[in-house]
Amino acid sequence: RAKVIDGKSVAKQIRYEITGEISRMKDAISIVPGLAVILVGDRKDSATYVRNKKKACEAVGITSYEECLPENSTEQEVLKLISGFNDDPSVHGILIQLPLPCHMNEENILNAVSIEKDVDGFHPLNIGRLAMRGREPLFVPCTPKGCIELLHRYRIDIKGKRAVVIGRSNIVGMPAALLLQREDATVTILHSRTKNPEEITRQADIIISAAGQPNMVRGSWIKPGAVIIDVGINPVEDAKSPRGYRLVGDICYEEACKIASAVTPVPGGVGPMTIAMLLSNTLSSAKRTHNFK
Ligand code: NAD
Repeated sequence: RAKVIDGKSVAKQIRYEITGEISRMKDAISIVPGLAVILVGDRKDSATYVRNKKKACEAVGITSYEECLPENSTEQEVLKLISGFNDDPSVHGILIQLPLPCHMNEENILNAVSIEKDVDGFHPLNIGRLAMRGREPLFVPCTPKGCIELLHRYRIDIKGKRAVVIGRSNIVGMPAALLLQREDATVTILHSRTKNPEEITRQADIIISAAGQPNMVRGSWIKPGAVIIDVGINPVEDAKSPRGYRLVGDICYEEACKIASAVTPVPGGVGPMTIAMLLSNTLSSAKRTHNFK
């Protein structure tokens, strides 16, 4: 049976390491990292994510600054907030909670974040550098970075391996494929128009799935011994659950366990890694700003 890649415990270990680094930094130079979060509108799910990020910051010693704007705010108002945080030396990371209300131009807003504080890694310059050989982005998007970190911490070889990424979104699939390529994997990207996906996934030594399709990848899609990283978080009806639904990944977990060598569960796999990587990016930003090794 496949080894379970325990993202929850890896993330806990990473948060422990970050806490230690922050206290070392505070003792040495009296600086603590600061993260600013901007939330526009009243989406409940976004509010929950922001609250979780704030709690996670506090737990490791990062100061968090939160700004909530109403749904009907203007792009100018958001840009003004960003500009204030760009100039604020106590802020080392700025995060714009997505999605923004549809009357706003997401590109304009993400472009306005200083690339030195772009802890989400969504600034076009950081993404561009991620795609270019010989260039280093200042920040890498948190969810795909968390996937690679899991592979590293479980000592799973990436170099020369065949990797398949399912999904090509700007926030997960595309940067995950770029990162795997930087790690010298041979990468194929699958998307909603791909023909015969099963044939392609069956050749993969490593699969990272971020399609948002519950239980799409069946056991028969998996090469024996492959490593599976499941980013998908999909609610499915479940009368037995008190909430009426439960969360599943893109991978049929039970089937994958019988054929793969290692699999991430949902929940408890990639999910907890995303916030851990955000904290890690914020710490690196503060270290870089203050030239603290
Ligand atoms: P998205 O909807 O922006 O992108 C989905 C991608 O999957 C698209 O590129 C699409 O072409 C592809 N796709 C859709 N159906 C497909 C199919 N049948 N076969 C192959 N490809 C298909 O979604 P996203 O924001 O990238 O998120 C993807 C999933 O990951 C969602 O379930 C989301 O909830 C989850 N997610 C998890 C985390 C985390 O922290 N673990 C973070 C972000 C997203």
